[in-house]
Amino acid sequence: KKVKDNQIDRLYEEISNGSRLHLSKAITLLESTSDADKAAGQQLLQKLLPKTGNSIRIGITGVPGAGKSTFIEAFGLKLAEAGHKVAVLAIDPSSTITGGSILGDKTRMEVLARHPNAFIRPSPSSGTLGGVHKKTRETMLLCEAAGFDILLIETVGVGQSETVVRGMVDMFLLLVLTGAGDELQGMKKGIMELADAIIVHKADGDNLKLAKKTVKEFKQLLHFLQPATIGWTSTVMPVSSLERTGLDTVWETILSFQRKMTESGVWEQRRRSQTTDWFHSMIRDRLIDSFFADQRKKEQVKTLEKQLNEGNVTVANAVEKLFNS
Ligand code: GDP
Repeated sequence: KKVKDNQIDRLYEEISNGSRLHLSKAITLLESTSDADKAAGQQLLQKLLPKTGNSIRIGITGVPGAGKSTFIEAFGLKLAEAGHKVAVLAIDPSSTITGGSILGDKTRMEVLARHPNAFIRPSPSSGTLGGVHKKTRETMLLCEAAGFDILLIETVGVGQSETVVRGMVDMFLLLVLTGAGDELQGMKKGIMELADAIIVHKADGDNLKLAKKTVKEFKQLLHFLQPATIGWTSTVMPVSSLERTGLDTVWETILSFQRKMTESGVWEQRRRSQTTDWFHSMIRDRLIDSFFADQRKKEQVKTLEKQLNEGNVTVANAVEKLFNS
């Protein structure tokens, strides 16, 4: 016990001084399946909590091949070179299902990974999406405590992952490609309504003209959608990460968003409600876990499923039976 306390103090000091090595160690504690490690991780996080919150949390999404990692590397490098401390995290729904990953093998963003002002952590590769969500949120807080002032949370347009990421960031960016005709039709309106800014990516070479046209089309389309953030008009911009054009505009847009939303109070309000939502979702997870921890309940559920299939009981009555036994 004593040793653990010493370790936590050491981690606290090192992380407060910005050590990426110790930041990694702390994240590993929180991701551990050992109860002792998890408890130590929570004790550390509790201690670091006053040092959290001072960052811009930015979500980035787009289909595989939209150029997310290329963009994050180019944009992250630009910020790191300007003296910002940039942390890149990922939520990859595929990794929770298959253990494999669409997003994060370690060869991605090699240049950014070597920059002293950057920290890259791949998606936790086990657990439910809810569990990964919790780990990522805790990792974000640890990164903030270590002095990272820009957090980039990457996800892929699959399942619920965009909504999950929207629920943990201040601002949300959507990367799209040209060929808007198909793109617009194929794209879920819901995803566009989450985006505070749309980046028409790979706006270079032969593609530049088409990219500009696509920007116009998206701008028109946005008029018909709900704004993602109260008091903010979502914007559309062409960017090339290969030629490094448009990156300044992205940064200016982020700063303008932060300024306006801080002034209107929406920034703080969103963060508070995100924490409340997180709290409630953890209560739900805990209830479900403790309910199914009882082996008899599991068996009863199986029996009731069978009865439901045979048409012998109504759904409501089956639930009633489960809770009254
Ligand atoms: P991700 O799956 O969304 O992370 O996409 P990647 O970053 O792996 O990029 C997919 C492909 O698009 C790669 O072959 C990149 O070289 C290419 N790409 C990325 N950004 C740009 C860009 O700005 N311009 C052009 N022309 N190609 C790009």
